[in-house]
Amino acid sequence: MNIENNISNLKNSIPDNVDIVAVSKTKPINDLIKAYQAGQRIFGENKVQEMVAKFEQLPKDIEWHMIGHVQTNKVKYMAAFVNTIQSVDSQKLLKEIQKQAYRNRRIIRCLIQIRIADEDTKFGIEPSELNDFLNFSKMLPNIKITGLMGMASFTNNKNQIRNEFRMLSNLYDDFSDLKVLSIGMSGDYQIGIEEGSTMIRIGSKIFGERNF
Ligand SMILES: *Cc1c(COP(=O)(O)O)cnc(C)c1O
Repeated sequence: MNIENNISNLKNSIPDNVDIVAVSKTKPINDLIKAYQAGQRIFGENKVQEMVAKFEQLPKDIEWHMIGHVQTNKVKYMAAFVNTIQSVDSQKLLKEIQKQAYRNRRIIRCLIQIRIADEDTKFGIEPSELNDFLNFSKMLPNIKITGLMGMASFTNNKNQIRNEFRMLSNLYDDFSDLKVLSIGMSGDYQIGIEEGSTMIRIGSKIFGERNF
């Protein structure tokens, strides 16, 4: 597994306007350093404690993205440094992010996670709730909603994945203030890009399979 090569191959195979989040969850710090040395600056983690530990050990020009479900009582641990929380799925969480961002005198970027998969297990709000959500966020000065995030169903059915991404892409197009459409992982990022992704979240294709 050559992390440097994986990153450059990936970069060469996607359009310039698509950002890569290197999803480094469960991976050791040395793997992140290799990715950093290959020029990677955006990293994604799904657990707050793990992200904090890695933040403390790595260069400070990294953009940290939280991509996993966040409990409100954990927001305070990352509020001083997190660049974007991609997995915002409740107004309660948004209020807590506002509170902690204000305490840190920062603006925290957020993506709203939309439920597009036909699985009960995936987090996110319903598409019909987005408008109210965005209006609510306008009252929160330390939060900037920059876009939407979604995860397709865990399936081999490419048409289904495409339809789910397309639904989110259409929703994204309805809101011209939004700049980031975070769709696509190692197994489905090409479909994500074809459907308008501006940000792909890639773990195993960069760092290799996860054992746990
Ligand atoms: C783990 C994870 C990814 C990356 O998954 P890979 O299939 O390894 O690329 C992307 N997004 C989220 C929300 C994840 O939890």
